[in-house]
Amino acid sequence: MYHPLSDPSAPPRVYRDTAPPPPPTTPLHRSTNVDVAIVGAGFTGLSTALHLAEAGISAMVLEAKQIAWGASGRAFGQVVPYLKRGHAAILQQYGRDGQRIVDAVGRGPSLAFELIDKHRMNVWTQRSGLLFAAHSPSGRRDLEERTAYWQQRGAPVEMLYGYRCADLIGSSLYIAASLDRRGGNLNPLAYARGLAHAAIAAGATIHTDTQVTAIRRNGALWWIEAGPYDLVANTVVIATNAYGHDLFPGLRKSVIPVRGHGFVTEPLSDNQRRSILPERQSLTDTRHLFSGVRILPDGRLHASAHGPLFGREHAADWRHVDARVGRLYPHLGPVRWSEGWSGWVAMTIDQFPRLHELAPGLFAALGCNGRGIAAATMLGRDLAALVRDGTDAETVFPVVPLRPLRWHRVAPLLVHGLAQMYRLHDLIDEVRFLRPTA
Ligand SMILES: Cc1cc2nc3c(=O)[nH]c(=O)nc-3n(C[C@H](O)[C@H](O)[C@H](O)COP(=O)(O)OP(=O)(O)OC[C@H]3O[C@@H](n4cnc5c(N)ncnc54)[C@H](O)[C@@H]3O)c2cc1C
Repeated sequence: MYHPLSDPSAPPRVYRDTAPPPPPTTPLHRSTNVDVAIVGAGFTGLSTALHLAEAGISAMVLEAKQIAWGASGRAFGQVVPYLKRGHAAILQQYGRDGQRIVDAVGRGPSLAFELIDKHRMNVWTQRSGLLFAAHSPSGRRDLEERTAYWQQRGAPVEMLYGYRCADLIGSSLYIAASLDRRGGNLNPLAYARGLAHAAIAAGATIHTDTQVTAIRRNGALWWIEAGPYDLVANTVVIATNAYGHDLFPGLRKSVIPVRGHGFVTEPLSDNQRRSILPERQSLTDTRHLFSGVRILPDGRLHASAHGPLFGREHAADWRHVDARVGRLYPHLGPVRWSEGWSGWVAMTIDQFPRLHELAPGLFAALGCNGRGIAAATMLGRDLAALVRDGTDAETVFPVVPLRPLRWHRVAPLLVHGLAQMYRLHDLIDEVRFLRPTA
């Protein structure tokens, strides 16, 4: 079966060209001891390392490729105060912890932006909020309900209709949108590299090109096998998300890795870029499938779109994204796409993230379901608290037992079927409710 670590590509050029260099790192070159070993250098692993180092606990990150080589260096870049599922589902799932979780997730973007400021990270951010447009009457009702909920809780969220909605989007395709000023956008690769610099400055170590191949219990300690070298650690954190092998039995089968796709154009002309998203919020809508659009600092239009959900990396198919942008911004005329890429998102069956204590001193966090810039930063902070305190009293999500999916082998078929159904629903809604004007 194809494995995400087999992808040949690096994070996209559009992020690499505009991110500061990563801190210098080397492969692990000797067997050694460490207090906490962290497997994976994405937002989860790096945030864990930073928070541990700040607490005075020595942490070493082992990364199979390069810093943020996985989803963290390829994300769309929206810093979202939501999980994949809304507040009602969280309240239902987590009972009396629900409200605390909803509120903590709502503060997620502040956590990421505060880290960026505190550690003076050199990261492009846009903090003017996020736009969520209604693609159908039910999508509009959902947004209105969510907006009213957050307004009652004092959050800077508002509904936009008519001209105000069209002006902020730069298109009259939608009749209503919710503007949430808590969220924002950033270059995810730059943010991950910023976390890595901050973690090292605080005392953590990062080894790249170092793939962990086995983790074994030895008395009270953990033996970590990485190529020819062994690492002995008191505690291990697995932060490999969708890119994980079976480092612990069943962990890989507890999530379904699904590909997400991104595309950027050549820089738009000054007139074109002024006409789109003038306050530079990114825009998504209430359709089921990925559908973000934003303008990058150099005037490129960045869009997420449909693409193959599983299997090997393929050259991107521009047609879907081209059609979508053409429908949203017909005044642009044909645009020139300059780069396309993909990365793997870890989906869970109920679409909630997981925090696990797999064995005494062996922890894992994964499954942000495509909402991981803020949430994985938060999970990393909480993993550090879990390692430090040995309890989940301070964590946002409770520690839960590992539940491998028995039907994991056929998951691609089921997800593919579901995606086709969603695609059809979205298409019908689009034809019925969205009316582009030239
Ligand atoms: C296309 C795309 C768009 C997205 N857009 C957004 C968005 O706009 N907003 C948002 O909030 N979230 C978004 N996400 C989700 C977000 O990127 C992820 O939730 C987040 O990056 C997960 O971080 P992580 O550290 O848990 O995992 P990753 O960043 O995937 O890191 C895992 C790391 O583990 C390493 N690894 C795996 N196995 C081993 C091993 N055996 N030994 C050593 N290292 C190993 C991998 O090389 C990888 O670098 C998007 C994701 C994708 C793919």
